[in-house]
Formats: sequence, structure tokens, C-alpha cells
Amino acid sequence: MDIAPYLPFLPPELRPLAWRAHPLDGKLLLFERDSGLNLLLEGEETAHLTRTAPRTLLIAVTNVCNLTCHFCYRDLKLASSWTADTLLEFCREAAEWGVLEVAFGGGEPMLLKGWERFIHDLYAETPLCINFTTNGMLLTDAFLQNIAGKYGNIRVSLYDTNDWEHTIRRFAANRARFGVNWLITPEELPRLEVMFLNLLGMGVRDFLLLSYKGSDPALHLSRAQVDQLAALVNKLHAAVKDLATLKLDVCWGDALGGVPRLFDLSDCGAGDEFLSITSDKQIKPCSFHHHAIPFNTLSDVRAYWEKQRTRRQAAAIAGCARLPNRALTEKGTPHDETLHLAAV
Ligand code: SF4
Repeated sequence: MDIAPYLPFLPPELRPLAWRAHPLDGKLLLFERDSGLNLLLEGEETAHLTRTAPRTLLIAVTNVCNLTCHFCYRDLKLASSWTADTLLEFCREAAEWGVLEVAFGGGEPMLLKGWERFIHDLYAETPLCINFTTNGMLLTDAFLQNIAGKYGNIRVSLYDTNDWEHTIRRFAANRARFGVNWLITPEELPRLEVMFLNLLGMGVRDFLLLSYKGSDPALHLSRAQVDQLAALVNKLHAAVKDLATLKLDVCWGDALGGVPRLFDLSDCGAGDEFLSITSDKQIKPCSFHHHAIPFNTLSDVRAYWEKQRTRRQAAAIAGCARLPNRALTEKGTPHDETLHLAAV
């Protein structure tokens, strides 16, 4: 898409950046991958635009992992069908389609054969911004140095099983661009504030607070605990302001009332803003979704997206923001009837 007609709307100092234009419905998103800058233009000049591609593809590059965490939700029977070459070709075509970012996960993406070479090739051969989530155990200083400047963000999940403190120290020592994925459960809530300050002290500046999706009632927050979390988020946000970024995963929906947000989203965006691609080459609206469609080529993915993008179908899993009250009772117990209806 030609962005020349839109450049006069930008401050002069931002015009020379290597923007990619991503039309949305009635708006235009400009994205620059090296800085991670996003600009949203909205007005008469953008009113005619419609979205032509998802912004992000979430791709499970392998189903293999070097850990065996008891809480892992991936299906161990799924095949790992991607190679570095097939994935590169798929991503090349996705960039031509108009996708801006790829977010790789797994399994453990560090276990894809040729992973480091793949990152270099993807950066050199496409305009895509590369992000990945790792358990961190296989990272090395050399790897982080070698891929410096070629990715947007590396995310490490805070588990009991992955010595994340060591990984965060490694990130900080190598000046990596990184963030933490932090699952907020009833057990985590009482120590959230202290832990947040510890992480901040270790150099973490990007926090993604994840909600639990699943059938274990012990891991869901009750309504009162969600309110407690909202109050804590407000407090932490006010305390750190520009020092750190606090993000909430889309599946919280509007549960955390009163927290400041960059955007007021009416929907999580699954199947439209982003699509999930599994390790055995299936398309899902999001990683938690019960609908999965096998595909062969990127054209199949495009056809699926064009047909499904406006359907906004809920995932049949407790914690999905597309279900009434996220299919949870006041106490945080999964609401079986709602889930049953969603699955049909
Ligand atoms: S469909 Fe539901 S589970 Fe999937 S991303 Fe959206 S809110 Fe989350």
C-alpha cells in the first residue's frame, strides 16, 4: 500500500522512518519494526479503508519442549511439521499478504533446527517484526548477541520450572529486548506487588499479566480477586508510569474495570487481528480455541481469515472473554452450561 498520501499527517521527524502501512476498518496503522513504533491514523482520509490481513500470526514452530511442566496445556500428540525452510516461505508469503508481526512459540522455539539462522533469514528477507516466547533454558549469551537488532521482543514465562531469574539476568547483561509473561492465579495475587518490584529491580520493563484459561477452578480468580488485581494494576501503573509497560492479555476482556488502557477494545481480536497457527499446520482463531482447520498453503489461511474474521466466535474454555462473565461464576468456578453452549 502506498503510504505517501498519509505522510503529511505525521510529525516531520517521523516521516523518514521505514513505515509499513496496515489498513484497518476505517483506520490506518503505521508500524516501524526496528523501533516498534505504532501510529494510528483515523479521519476522513482513512474512512474508506478496510482490513486486508491480520496484524499478527502466532505460530507454534514446534511441539517439542525441553521441559515437562505439569501445567502445560499443549497437546503432546501434535506433530511438529515445520522446518526452518517451510516456515520461512510461509512467513515470506504472510508478509506479502500484509501481516506485520510474527510471534513464535511452541513447544520451545529454540528447539527448531536452524532457529538462529532462521531469525537472520527472516529479518533479511521479509519486513516482518519477529517476536518469540521461550522458557529461556536454552538461551546463550552468544545467541542473544548474534540476533541483536533482528527481533522485536523475546518473552520469557515465569514458571517454577524454568529458572527465569537466571534468564532475566542474561537478558539484562546482553541488553536484550525482552518482557515477562506472568500468569496471575489466586496463589500469585498476594505476592504480586513484591514480585513486581523485584522484577523491576532486575531490569524488567515489560510485564504481560496473563489470565488463566482452563478447567481448574483453583487457578481462576474470583470476582473479588479480579477487583483486587484491578486495584493493584492501577497502583503499580501510577507508581511506575513511563518506567515500565504493564500489559493485560486480551482474555481479561473488560473484567478489570477502571484500569487505564491505551485502546478501548470491544473484542479480543482472535481470528481477525491475529490468528494462531499450530505446529501441525492447523489454523485456530487463538491458541485456546476448540476450532482448528488444517491447511496446506498461505492461500488456505487467507481464505479462512476472509471467511471467519467477522464471526468473533468464542473459545469453549473458561476464561474466554467472548463468553458471558468469561464463563466463570462469582467464585471463579467454570460455568459448565455456558461452556457447553459455546462448544456446540
Ligand atoms: S477467543 Fe477467547 S480465549 Fe481466545 S483470545 Fe479471544 S478471549 Fe481469549
